[in-house]
Amino acid sequence: MKAAVVTSFDAPLEIQERPVPEPGTGQVLVRIEACGLCHTDIHAAHGDWPVKPAPPFVPGHEGVGVVTAVGAAVTQHEIGDRVAIPWLGHACGHCDHCISGWETLCEQQQNSGYAVDGGFAEYAVADANYVVTVPEGVSSFDAAPLTCAGVTTYKAIKVANVSPSERVAVFGIGGLGHLAVQYARLVGAEVIAVDVKQSKLDLARELGADHVVDATKVDPAEAIAALGGADVAVALTVSPGSFEQAFASLRRGGRLVCVGLPPEREGAMHLPIFDTVLGGKSVIGSIVGTREDLAEVFRLHALGRTKVIAEPRKLDDVNAAIDEVLSGQVNARLVFEF
Ligand SMILES: [Zn+2]
Ligand SMILES: [Zn+2]
Repeated sequence: MKAAVVTSFDAPLEIQERPVPEPGTGQVLVRIEACGLCHTDIHAAHGDWPVKPAPPFVPGHEGVGVVTAVGAAVTQHEIGDRVAIPWLGHACGHCDHCISGWETLCEQQQNSGYAVDGGFAEYAVADANYVVTVPEGVSSFDAAPLTCAGVTTYKAIKVANVSPSERVAVFGIGGLGHLAVQYARLVGAEVIAVDVKQSKLDLARELGADHVVDATKVDPAEAIAALGGADVAVALTVSPGSFEQAFASLRRGGRLVCVGLPPEREGAMHLPIFDTVLGGKSVIGSIVGTREDLAEVFRLHALGRTKVIAEPRKLDDVNAAIDEVLSGQVNARLVFEF
């Protein structure tokens, strides 16, 4: 099979021919039909984060395809099922986080395309317990961005406990942000989109943002204050400065949801204590979502409530696709089609 492989943190990915892996006990083999390119894949390939993956490895945690073989003891999926392989590739299933609906916090988790080979390949094996069925009515192409960008922003809106008519500011429109705008709309929020690119702000408008703020022209915190301040700000960018702007945009009682992950060396934000205390403000970290969250994301999409904006690419062009994402030229998501 063809696979895009990280061989070292400072070399481009290599397209290699590899043997098709065999599913072990409890695993399924998936013939990948589509896999999105997430910023996390780029951080993985560059070794940007504290716990580094071990090259050689295959990135990709938005892999979607058809089960073509099952290992021993697999009862929950069969050959022909269409499934998604999310970031949470495996969790222990018995720690307090796992049994209380917070499997995404499991300390024993293994992440797809990071600790285990992911979806930048024609085939991938995955834990049958942690793949999620893709329903009819959701194409594999659309399911791919929903598998990380979708579930991550859906969960961010969920943990912020947004009430209808609250004001939600989404910092960073792109693969994640274009979906965050839609989930915020779905729970009835007044939505403000913040970005530095006009094409992304136009996209946010098309997807239902009530206001857009161009952070190159105005101070977003001031612009949002003029609208009454944000009850919830969702920080999706990889720049700590934009996390601080997002916090500064909150009105009293506001919640900052931190989602984006900058490289480790830049990974700190300044938090004003007086403003946090006197304003009763919260800072919430949110990491991807559970299998159930992803099932809900797929259900909403099958109902026609969300729109995925993505462009197809070929796996052979993986390095060019990474350059496109890093240059900021991509409005939303790139998806490798197989
Ligand atoms: Zn991702
Ligand atoms: Zn666990």
